[in-house]
Amino acid sequence: MTHSLSDDLFARALQLIPGGVNSPVRAFRSVGGAPFFVKAARGATLITADDRELIDFVCTWGPAIHGHNHPVIKAAIAAALENGTSFGTPNPYEVEMAELITRFVPSIQKVRMCNSGTEATMSAIRLARGFTRRDKIIKFAGCYHGHSDSLLIKAGSGALTHGHPDSAGVPASFARETIVLPYNDTVALDAAFAANPGQIACVILEPYCGNVGFIMPDAGYLAAVRAVTTQHGALLIFDEVMTGFRIAKGGVQERESIVPDLTCLGKIIGGGLPVGAFGGRSDIMDCLAPLGPVYQAGTLSGNPLAMAAGIAALRLLEDDGSGTSPYSRLDRLGRQVRDAVLAAAHAKGLPAQVPQCGSMFSIFFTATPVRDYATALTGDAKLFARFFHACLARGVYLAPSAYEAGFISTAHDGPAIDRACEIMSRAIAEL
Ligand SMILES: *Cc1c(COP(=O)(O)O)cnc(C)c1O
Repeated sequence: MTHSLSDDLFARALQLIPGGVNSPVRAFRSVGGAPFFVKAARGATLITADDRELIDFVCTWGPAIHGHNHPVIKAAIAAALENGTSFGTPNPYEVEMAELITRFVPSIQKVRMCNSGTEATMSAIRLARGFTRRDKIIKFAGCYHGHSDSLLIKAGSGALTHGHPDSAGVPASFARETIVLPYNDTVALDAAFAANPGQIACVILEPYCGNVGFIMPDAGYLAAVRAVTTQHGALLIFDEVMTGFRIAKGGVQERESIVPDLTCLGKIIGGGLPVGAFGGRSDIMDCLAPLGPVYQAGTLSGNPLAMAAGIAALRLLEDDGSGTSPYSRLDRLGRQVRDAVLAAAHAKGLPAQVPQCGSMFSIFFTATPVRDYATALTGDAKLFARFFHACLARGVYLAPSAYEAGFISTAHDGPAIDRACEIMSRAIAEL
């Protein structure tokens, strides 16, 4: 066995950091093996501690839509850094960021910045409860909304039972306020509203699911969710932490023409630095302190470096100097990946589903069309793990789990995407 700096670093990390990682999915538990360490990243490429170059389809779990270490974003951070890293008072970047977000996402009339997607969803739910003066919330199995207590809940045994904690440390009494339903099931949603009249504060969902692999809604599903929430006076919260600015400039809500009451953002709006945001109708947002009774705060919220990076990332989505929309290029790359994987699977006689929209995709080894959590689990995770390691050995890094979405950046355009498709096809042929 050759000496590996990644293995040395991981051995040290295991002594000091639980599981050796600061976020669990990085630990490779679901594909086996040990994670590699990365010392640098440029464009579509990660450079490992051992100087391997990998074509990256994780893109830091979504934020890097322009590729890693984009020169324009880097320059924006450097310029902000000249003036200091945090002021504890309002700074001009915050206003510019709010102007950009409300312009890109018209359902957002007012926005509050925070530091992560988890903070955004946690705060949006508190706001929905404060605004409606109701306690219960509805979420969907397989949708991930960060790790706050109300949201780390798994489904009960029947569609109408209340949730159970999905993590030690979440009180069962909290879980009872969260109702977990199957995604893409309007009958279950109607039934939950009928069974809890006047008690549901909000429905929160990933309008396109990206945390159980990539799953799109059936035609008419999101419109039905919008209609039933309006009918019952509950707020509709779109968690677009992953899909915001990625599926379209205005997120899934733009592509599907649905107007949610509140939207959660993160990932891309930080340009690679830690940021979250939530926003929506002014009358709801004005319930937040200091105007209203719902408390929410943050020492580093609206941080100038993070704002500068995010503003640069959003401006690049409007015009990255290429003369074409990044979204049409990203969709071409997404289709190239999907077609290559499906063709290789077909040639091999392997059943596969490759849901894809724009620069998001995932690969399920199953004959069953994937439309919710239960059907996602029909994907062959053992086969995926072998595919993952075959790709990694040849220089392509996919998310280390059968149940995560893949992300493509504009920097993948050109030789990187061709090479990646060739490698993935060969990996499938040799499974
Ligand atoms: C990543 C993600 C979150 C959590 O964001 P963090 O910044 O990791 O806290 C919430 N919702 C969705 C849909 C996400 O993809």
